[in-house]
Amino acid sequence: MKLYNSLTRQKDEFIPHEPGKVSMYTCGPTVYHFAHIGNLRSYIMEDVLERYLRYAGYDVTRVMNITDVGHLSGDSDDGEDKMLKGAKREKKSVLEIAKFYTDAFFADCKELNIKTPDVVQPATGCIDEFIHAIEVLLKKGYAYEAGGNIYFDTSKLKQYYVFNDFEEEDLAVGVREGVEADGNKRNKADFVLWFTKSKFDDQELKWESPFGLGYPGWHIECSCISMKYLGEYLDIHCGGIDNAFPHHTNEIAQSEAYIGHEWCKYWFHVHHLNTNSGKMSKSKGEFLTVSLLKDKGYDPLAYRFFCLQSHYRKGLVFSYENLDNAAVAYKKLIARIAALAAEAKKTTVDAAKLAEIKAPFAAAMDNDLNTSLAVTALYDVLKTDASAATKWQAVADLDSVLQLDLIAKAEAQAVPVKEETGLDEATTAWVEERIAARAAAKKAKNYAEADAIRAEILAAGIEITDTKDGVKYKKI
Ligand code: AMP
Ligand code: ZN
Repeated sequence: MKLYNSLTRQKDEFIPHEPGKVSMYTCGPTVYHFAHIGNLRSYIMEDVLERYLRYAGYDVTRVMNITDVGHLSGDSDDGEDKMLKGAKREKKSVLEIAKFYTDAFFADCKELNIKTPDVVQPATGCIDEFIHAIEVLLKKGYAYEAGGNIYFDTSKLKQYYVFNDFEEEDLAVGVREGVEADGNKRNKADFVLWFTKSKFDDQELKWESPFGLGYPGWHIECSCISMKYLGEYLDIHCGGIDNAFPHHTNEIAQSEAYIGHEWCKYWFHVHHLNTNSGKMSKSKGEFLTVSLLKDKGYDPLAYRFFCLQSHYRKGLVFSYENLDNAAVAYKKLIARIAALAAEAKKTTVDAAKLAEIKAPFAAAMDNDLNTSLAVTALYDVLKTDASAATKWQAVADLDSVLQLDLIAKAEAQAVPVKEETGLDEATTAWVEERIAARAAAKKAKNYAEADAIRAEILAAGIEITDTKDGVKYKKI
């Protein structure tokens, strides 16, 4: 499989550190608010990557953090703490906010068929690990104390800006409008590993540490949580493209300084869901959530389908018109699969043909997870001359990755036909009700009405016969 790697800026052949196994880390949500559907685009595409790696036969272990402390509203260690901001807004404690929005996040994931990672670790559960890593970084000379905080010293690295999009001169850290420069920093790109009360007196969650009572910076959590569960060699690190700098750049800096060798080989970044006025965010424009889409009558999986129709490395423009188009196409796709249902039960699966019609799907996914081509490959499966059972099986297999509930929805839509009567469910219910009414009429000696009901049933193309075992009926 080839994957675009933000580190090498090209499509690289994917070769995991340990053959057959993949360690995968995903930056989890900051749980101070609901996830918007832009955040969820990233998690959908990461989910597809994980599921495809499993489909391709890898044994995947995936870890995700939950940011419940330390993420400031400015990515460069400035502004308010996002969690504290959420708690103030809702007049709740930080832990209450974290619990509520973590649950809400996983409820959204469930609606979108996003699998929960093997390990989900809130940052507040790993404070000892952060402290230990910071102590090592201090000991190795990669960190320093200033003004009560501990900073990572980026000048100690041979190369800091790994994702080449960022030129040093463009990064005027601390001189953005309205943001005061942090005078404690030795270099403008340095970042905080540990804050103490010297910076934010109103921080609700604080821990004792050798550096003073305080709390961790945002970046350290992902390095430590990843290494705790996945060791010193990480295969794939995922996140939205806005995480590439400074978050992932800082993760690499501190992780590699800590372990002394290369840490993560492949960096997978999902590009943004945009609106017509730019990147979707929680503070700008309509706050688009899964619940809002549901309230408006959309099936959340129509949104998943919408995301799959485009490549993860391209910006995707959200509009209700675009979503409507995807929703219509999704419904039609299900109807086409449903039309195969009856025939699929009568035919058999041809294993060789199955492998043949599934191959284009794998080819699309092997080429940097080209989901839009993979969706085309799914339509092509329906067009082949394979038996209905073979097509049905191919759809089921492809859907183990795409996760559009295609089989369950097609089955629910397919009209079940009773073998003996040749009638579908709705007609069966109707005829049984009429037969009961006829029996009641007969019992009341109302033979005229009983005969009228028999005629009514006959007019609907159904023949009824009185037998010693009761009334039998079948399509004429
Ligand atoms: P947050 O909860 O803000 O930490 O973000 C969670 C994830 O969503 C991160 O991987 C972000 O990079 C990603 N993200 C944020 N905004 C967008 C967007 N508009 N489109 C796609 N992904 C996004
Ligand atoms: Zn992270």
